[in-house]
Amino acid sequence: MTGSAPLILGAGPAGCMAAIQLARAGASPTLIDRDAVVGDALCGGFLSWRSAAQLQEIGLDLGTIGAHRVNQLALYAGGVEAHARLPETGFGLSRYALDTAMRALAAASGAQLEIDRIRSLAPGKAEGERQEWRSKSIFLAAGKHDVRGQPRPRQSDDPALGLRIRIPAQPGLTQLLDGTIELHLFPKGYAGIVVQEDGSANICLALRKSQLAEAGGNPRALLDRMADEHPKFGQRMAYAAPGLTVDSIGAVPYGWIARETMPGLFRLGDQAAVIPSLAGEGMSIALTSGALAARYWLVGGADGAGKYQRAMARAAWRPVSVAKLIWETAESPRFNSQLVRLAGLAPWLTNLAMRASRI
Ligand SMILES: Cc1cc2nc3c(=O)[nH]c(=O)nc-3n(C[C@H](O)[C@H](O)[C@H](O)COP(=O)(O)OP(=O)(O)OC[C@H]3O[C@@H](n4cnc5c(N)ncnc54)[C@H](O)[C@@H]3O)c2cc1C
Repeated sequence: MTGSAPLILGAGPAGCMAAIQLARAGASPTLIDRDAVVGDALCGGFLSWRSAAQLQEIGLDLGTIGAHRVNQLALYAGGVEAHARLPETGFGLSRYALDTAMRALAAASGAQLEIDRIRSLAPGKAEGERQEWRSKSIFLAAGKHDVRGQPRPRQSDDPALGLRIRIPAQPGLTQLLDGTIELHLFPKGYAGIVVQEDGSANICLALRKSQLAEAGGNPRALLDRMADEHPKFGQRMAYAAPGLTVDSIGAVPYGWIARETMPGLFRLGDQAAVIPSLAGEGMSIALTSGALAARYWLVGGADGAGKYQRAMARAAWRPVSVAKLIWETAESPRFNSQLVRLAGLAPWLTNLAMRASRI
């Protein structure tokens, strides 16, 4: 493929959003993903009210696709707990359900979906396993995965990694979690728990790599240790059968923001900014970046890339900085229970933190 029609690499929320907006404006984008079959990505099982509103705007109603409504935040650390109402309704939805719906919407809007794994990038050119793709305008939306030619710096000797276990629907657990997003704060990490469309509980953790090493590199052994050390988390994990799969992803560059880009390259989603995940706003950043990049492209074509990237960096700065501060406090063994105590005493502060970490 050659030419000026935009090429979008990655059909996650960022890439699909760009594809939908560009296709609806008549730009005939090509959307490429490495996977022909939609998987169930580990990250992004909670959708904030902002994500929900953005999806609603493009015609995707989360209520209609069965997403679990979430109105409460519950925080736990060191035997202390606090509860707060979310500013607006959020949702629990599997990435399988969301990505399937977004891909279908992109195709229905007129985007051409292709399957290829992109290995490397250069101005105007993406080298795939199947073929070479050429376009003056490339939208990089490969999420967590770096593509050769566009690495993101790793900023920590002990980077964060993600783990996920999905517990099939069980009445006792569903009742415990109903309508709530739970955050269990641990030294060097946290677990987020939310019910999804099929009633299953999605337990997603971000932890430092050193902790996995301490557990002998065995993710399930690490989860079981966390369950022993933190009773409320243990109460949820008691529903997890021993053989359940634990999915994992490697080093996540929390706090990184792309401030520059190469000619014609629009960096989207996690390739534009990586917000610490306990804020539950990465999906909204992904959707925002897809829509914003499409807007800049429709005005300036490939030449709009630099301006877009700077605008995106400005938009992401506040939520990413606020979320980073919260994440650093939340993973500190000295401060995490104080944080929860404060959240209990001053619900207005929790509300402010939730609002300030939205894009
Ligand atoms: C542990 C953890 C938990 C999180 N939980 C939440 C949460 O609950 N709520 C929230 O809002 N955010 C959450 N996030 C953040 C959120 O998941 C991301 O910000 C969001 O998924 C970014 O979307 P994206 O479209 O940029 O990338 P992705 O969702 O990663 O999608 C990338 C797409 O690109 C494709 N791809 C990758 N490499 C290639 C390649 N080489 N060639 C072709 N295709 C490729 C993939 O198959 C995929 O379809 C979490 C993050 C972590 C680390």
